[in-house]
Amino acid sequence: MLIDNERKLGLDDTFNFYCHPGIPCFNACCKGLTLILMPYDIVRLKNCLNMSSTEFLDKYTTWHIGAATGLPVVTLKLVDNACPFVTEKGCAVYQDRPASCRLYPLVRMKSLNDEYYHVVYEEFCEGHKQSREWSVREWIEDQGAKVYNEMNDIFMELVLGVYSMGKTLNDDEMAKFYIACYDVDTLRKLSDELGCRRKEDDVEQMLEGIKFMKKFLIRD
Ligand code: SF4
Ligand code: SF4
Repeated sequence: MLIDNERKLGLDDTFNFYCHPGIPCFNACCKGLTLILMPYDIVRLKNCLNMSSTEFLDKYTTWHIGAATGLPVVTLKLVDNACPFVTEKGCAVYQDRPASCRLYPLVRMKSLNDEYYHVVYEEFCEGHKQSREWSVREWIEDQGAKVYNEMNDIFMELVLGVYSMGKTLNDDEMAKFYIACYDVDTLRKLSDELGCRRKEDDVEQMLEGIKFMKKFLIRD
C-alpha cells in the first residue's frame, strides 16, 4: 500500500476514482486487509446483522492493545484471508459498511484544529485509472461517511485525551473501556453497576459509554 503523504487534500481538493461492480478488480480490496472497527462501525454492523454487540464482537472480531495508544483496538476477523461480509455480488453489509470502507481510497487525518485526507494507492485497485473526478467533500457525501466522521471524532477525543495524559490502563480500566466503547448491549445491561446512564437507542448508549469513560479516565 502506498499512501501519498506528499499530498494533503482538504475538503475541496479533488482526486480521480471510480469503483463499480463491472471493474476487473471488484472485491479485491476486501481481501487481505486489516480493518479496524470504531464504536459506531460496530453499532451499525451489529444492527445490520440483527445481532447483539456481544455476539458480533465474539463472532467477527478480535482485539489487541494499540501500540501507540495503549488502548483496546478492535479489528475484523478475516475468513480465508477475506472480509467475512464480501460476496460475489459485493459487500453484504454495504448500507452499514465501516468508515474505512466508505472513505477508501482516502484516509482521514484529524487533529484538534486540522482535517485533511491522503489518497491510498494499491497495485490491484483500478479505480484510480478511471477518469471520474471527485472533491473530498463530494466523496464523503456520496459514501455516507459524514456521520461516521462525526462519531469517530467523538471517540478519538477520548482516545487522544487518555493518550495525552500518558496513562497506562490497569486490567479493570481496560475491561471497562472495551465494554463502554465497543459493547453497547453489555454496557446497557451493566449501566447501573457501572454508573453509566442507560439509553434505549444504541447510538445514544454508545455516546453515553464514551462520555462515561471520559469522566472515568480523564475526569473532565
Ligand atoms: S476499484 Fe479499488 S475499491 Fe473498487 S473494487 Fe476495485 S480494488 Fe476495490
Ligand atoms: S465490510 Fe464490505 S466493503 Fe468493507 S471490507 Fe467487508 S465486504 Fe468489503
